[in-house]
Amino acid sequence: MSTRTSESFIDSNLDYDVVVIGAGISGLYQLYCLREAGFRACILERGTGVGGTWYWNRYPGARFDSESYSYAYSFSEELLEEWNWSEHFASQPEILRYLEYVADKFNLFKDIRFSCEVTKAQYMEEETCWQVILADGSTVSTRILITALGILSEPTFPNIEGINSFSGESFHTGLWPKTPVTFEGKNVAVIGTGASGVQTIQEIAAQVRNLTVFQRRPNWCAPLNNSDIDVDEMNEIKANYKDMFAICSESHGGFIWTLDPRGTFEVTAAERVSFWEDLYASRGMSIWQGNFRDVLSDPMANKELSDFMANKIRQRIHDPEIAELLIPKDHGFGTRRVPLETKYYETYNRPNVDLIDLNRSPIRGISPKGVITSEGEYNVDTIVYATGFNAITGSFDRIDIRGASGRALKEEWSSHLETFLSVQVPNYPNLLMINGPQGLGGNHPRNIEYSVEWVTSLLEHMKSRDLRRVEPSISAVQTWSEHVRAKSGSALANKIDSWMTGINTNVPGKDKRVVGFRYGGSVQSYRLLCDSVAKGGYKEMIFS
Ligand code: NAP
Repeated sequence: MSTRTSESFIDSNLDYDVVVIGAGISGLYQLYCLREAGFRACILERGTGVGGTWYWNRYPGARFDSESYSYAYSFSEELLEEWNWSEHFASQPEILRYLEYVADKFNLFKDIRFSCEVTKAQYMEEETCWQVILADGSTVSTRILITALGILSEPTFPNIEGINSFSGESFHTGLWPKTPVTFEGKNVAVIGTGASGVQTIQEIAAQVRNLTVFQRRPNWCAPLNNSDIDVDEMNEIKANYKDMFAICSESHGGFIWTLDPRGTFEVTAAERVSFWEDLYASRGMSIWQGNFRDVLSDPMANKELSDFMANKIRQRIHDPEIAELLIPKDHGFGTRRVPLETKYYETYNRPNVDLIDLNRSPIRGISPKGVITSEGEYNVDTIVYATGFNAITGSFDRIDIRGASGRALKEEWSSHLETFLSVQVPNYPNLLMINGPQGLGGNHPRNIEYSVEWVTSLLEHMKSRDLRRVEPSISAVQTWSEHVRAKSGSALANKIDSWMTGINTNVPGKDKRVVGFRYGGSVQSYRLLCDSVAKGGYKEMIFS
């Protein structure tokens, strides 16, 4: 790499104008936009194919929890017209086919370097560029580095003694192999009952000889109510795309479900129950995202809804003791991510399925034969770890990212997690993040499209003015971070331990809730702020 200081944004001495890390939903669209805007760009991807989350999470039963058509790209009318979804909630193989189709249609493959694991990224002040170091020792230089790492892409195994001693097969849901895994006739253990565990358990229960589920904290699950989409229905969906995406951009979380403006106690008890029965029978996240406006913020309203959901569990499970084990007692409905299920609760009525309550009999270790709890040893052929991810910051921690001061980002964030709009970090010039910390939750593809377009506009702004360096001002970072923390106040979810509040008991240092780990405001308030920064000429950012 040349050591001269270039005068313009575009510098042919650098390998690229922009390097994107990750070929998931964010990275693919980012590459598309960068190319449209005339940048020399590439994606570095550690996997051997595109898809990100949907490339790695091939576990049995993996599928969308949001309606397929609302959780895919919206940027291309041609793509919307061409692609037909076969189910309201598509399965992982179909989602992966879709993302491969997108990459092929827009000729993205030629600029994606697969099996390229980025191990280090160092900002070079003199050249105003990033030097990106790959696992094979080679380097790539780029003016701008964009992370499109995904928020749940660093799987974590439990800290259990003897975990490497197991002599059977073991898999993490987030690192599922491409080669088929057979469960027929096997004794299988699943550890973890979050969204991944629930999808796996309900899928494999009928295939295995015996399934033992090791549960620490139960989650409130709601019916997915999935069904096939036929040609007529798909045509109807296509005809309504415009209206549907308009609803997504007007709803709090970007979903097709909007909160009901009524308060829980503004209607009679009978009306309440009837409304909840309807939601329980409708698709997907409706009961979570389309409920009364106060159920996720008012403890009394939340308690009323939680009681309704607890009774549903009791009605669906034959053994009352098992039902009680599956009813969360330490958090209310919707205050952690709600796993969506298809006959999940009925799974526990099967004679070949056992539920182990780890609160009563904690895991003591993994032996060559299986799982040891305080009450005994469970001999199994296969262990499935559905134990989650080092969320949001974990995928950054994996890479040794060093900014202008030479300080590692991991170190920076261990004491002080602040960004500007979840897109930039002070002292890390020319590093832009899609879905960084302090970012929006909710409907990710909708958020991703917005952020990618915002970042692309920022880069066009820089290129057209020959600005080579960008970082946020300290005051802008402080104002944004204070706003994020203020928005963390009302939602009950922020008072509960989960990956959404930065907790992962298997990762050292992730045992305390982080106020403002994610942005708790609405999609609209986030976009309003970002739009005003762009319209105001990015005054919150320092350029040179
Ligand atoms: P998760 O929600 O973090 O669940 C991890 C599970 O493993 C929890 O039940 C946890 O128990 C348990 N666990 C972790 N460490 C353990 C240990 N040492 N001993 C015993 N149990 C342990 O992870 P996930 O299910 O992979 O889901 C993560 C997120 O991915 C979801 O919330 C969702 O946002 C996303 N996801 C989406 C979809 C979809 O859209 N279709 C599907 C799957 C996942 P505790 O609760 O007690 O910690």
